[in-house]
Amino acid sequence: MLSPVPDDDGAPFWQYAARGELRIQACADCGELRFPPRPCCPHCHSFASEWRRMSGRGRVWSYVVPHPPLLPAYAAQAPYNAIVVELAEAPRIRLVGNLVSGPGAPLNSVAVERIRIGARVQVVFTEAGSDAAGTSVPRWVLERS
Ligand code: ZN
Repeated sequence: MLSPVPDDDGAPFWQYAARGELRIQACADCGELRFPPRPCCPHCHSFASEWRRMSGRGRVWSYVVPHPPLLPAYAAQAPYNAIVVELAEAPRIRLVGNLVSGPGAPLNSVAVERIRIGARVQVVFTEAGSDAAGTSVPRWVLERS
């Protein structure tokens, strides 16, 4: 697995993820959420920011099924999915991830035929590979209705 390589702006995202919290950067002046993290608010140009906790709920906005050629660790799991999730609190904010059957489940644990645009999903956190101990990556499971 590829591990995240946080930059300075994005580091808090991963620190919260390690605690099982999905947090998105928000402007501390106008309140506008923004992603990916960056120093300046595109709305009001303020440099003040905070990290707001999200419910972790969203909907599948789009998805793809990558096919080879892929990196070896991914090729072994193909066919799998990569989904784009729009967050319930902020539909303009979309996160790329994978739909899995549960925390720690492999990338191919949900059959591609089960994925639907608009399906409700909930974030789960999965420990990244041993090369990045302590790093948790957000993934998504179908919300039970
Ligand atoms: Zn602002």
